[in-house]
Amino acid sequence: MALTKKQRAELRLKFGGRCAYCGCELPEKGWHADHVEAVLRKSEQCMKSAAKGIFKLKSTGEVFRPEADCFENLFPACAPCNLMKTSYSLEMFRKQVSLQVERGRRSSMNFRTAERFGLVEVVTKPIVFWFEQYPPQEVKP
Ligand SMILES: [Zn+2]
Repeated sequence: MALTKKQRAELRLKFGGRCAYCGCELPEKGWHADHVEAVLRKSEQCMKSAAKGIFKLKSTGEVFRPEADCFENLFPACAPCNLMKTSYSLEMFRKQVSLQVERGRRSSMNFRTAERFGLVEVVTKPIVFWFEQYPPQEVKP
């Protein structure tokens, strides 16, 4: 769904102007309106590319779950979170996030080096999305 300027401004402030998932501050421009429950866009093979022997999918503009394409199902997200979440459910996305350290250790020499020299300290904690802890609970005196 296309958002009006007003809706977009409203959505950006839904969780205090921060990404619903990681909680980073959202810039005025360049953040994404994420479908919490994916709409699953329909795509078809691009026949122009196929003629050149290239397999390419293009969006048809239709979706499998049109009911998910509503304002209530939209969360403001930073670009990296939105791109990583793709069409995952919240729990699948949480799982993917929780695997990052393991993947970094396995495939990134940069990560291993940074960790070995104490530049990166890994903490073990559950993945709690920003929207799940928003608004922050006030500490009562
Ligand atoms: Zn984020």
